[in-house]
Amino acid sequence: MVEIVIREMGARGPVPKNFLSQLVGSFAMPAAENPTAAMMEAAFQHHEMDWRYINCEVPPDQLGAAVAGARAMGWAGFNCSVPHKVAVIEHLDGLGKSAEIMQAVNTVVRRGEKFIGENTDGQGFVQAMRTVIDPKGKHVVLFGAGGAARAVSVELSLAGAATITVVNRSADRGQGLVDLLNSKTPTTASLHVWNETYNVPEGTDIVINATTIGLFPDVNGRLNLDVSSLLPGMVVADGIHNPPETRLIRDARTQGCVALDGLGMLVNQGFIAVRHWSGIDVEPEVMRKAVVEALR
Ligand code: NDP
Repeated sequence: MVEIVIREMGARGPVPKNFLSQLVGSFAMPAAENPTAAMMEAAFQHHEMDWRYINCEVPPDQLGAAVAGARAMGWAGFNCSVPHKVAVIEHLDGLGKSAEIMQAVNTVVRRGEKFIGENTDGQGFVQAMRTVIDPKGKHVVLFGAGGAARAVSVELSLAGAATITVVNRSADRGQGLVDLLNSKTPTTASLHVWNETYNVPEGTDIVINATTIGLFPDVNGRLNLDVSSLLPGMVVADGIHNPPETRLIRDARTQGCVALDGLGMLVNQGFIAVRHWSGIDVEPEVMRKAVVEALR
């Protein structure tokens, strides 16, 4: 019996030192289309870590029980996604700096006996951005004011972005984000209510899509934006990772901009989460390859 178990585990990776893997995972609903498990498991195997990432579909009324279960089973932490990013806070023992400002958590980390909420979405985005431009002192145009926009803009502000123009359809939501940025971060933020074709102002360094426009299955969705106002040298980033090649990314390349797809954000937020949980820096290229294959 023991022999069989060892051979089965050996087929998936190295034989572990014992039979108790370290568990992490994700709580979300829906969960079936989330490719994070493929990316995490690839990293664990590549680094011979005896860790498992369990993708769980958790309805809102079971979130407290799921967090209690993770505590009881000694999980090192977990990701949470829609619709739990805010609701999870009441089940935690504290928040890291970015999560405190955003009041949203995508990564929970066990530190001693405590579960601490972090937010790696924006940090992942800024890490991807730094491969092409340093946000310090830069002028940013950000489409959207939801959870992703909040994470990205808070982190860009903390990284020193000089100005952030929030371009959003709903004025209330847009103003809420602008107020948060102006009151809790060092940047200067302003709102443009997006009810007609938007012209990106000259002098803009970074343009970001943090809306759901272009997200699968709306793969031909296009921002209401004058593409000719995207000028060569601007950095254009899309938060959408499915598909990675959005209309915005194609338009940006045609205009001679530097284009950054949403896979960088996805991979980096996962990379930072694993670092929080394990202290190990995994190979981002292994994660990126796994997620590309999973999405294909
Ligand atoms: P939310 O639902 O919180 O926000 C959606 C935003 O999109 C709102 O600002 C909304 O505007 C805007 N929007 C949606 N449809 C339209 C439209 N037709 N015209 C104009 N504006 C529109 O979503 P999230 O912020 O959680 O997610 C946004 C995107 O970011 C998703 O595609 C998600 O996949 C991606 N994401 C990527 C991550 C990554 O790792 N790459 C991590 C997290 C998110 P309004 O306020 O007017 O409704």
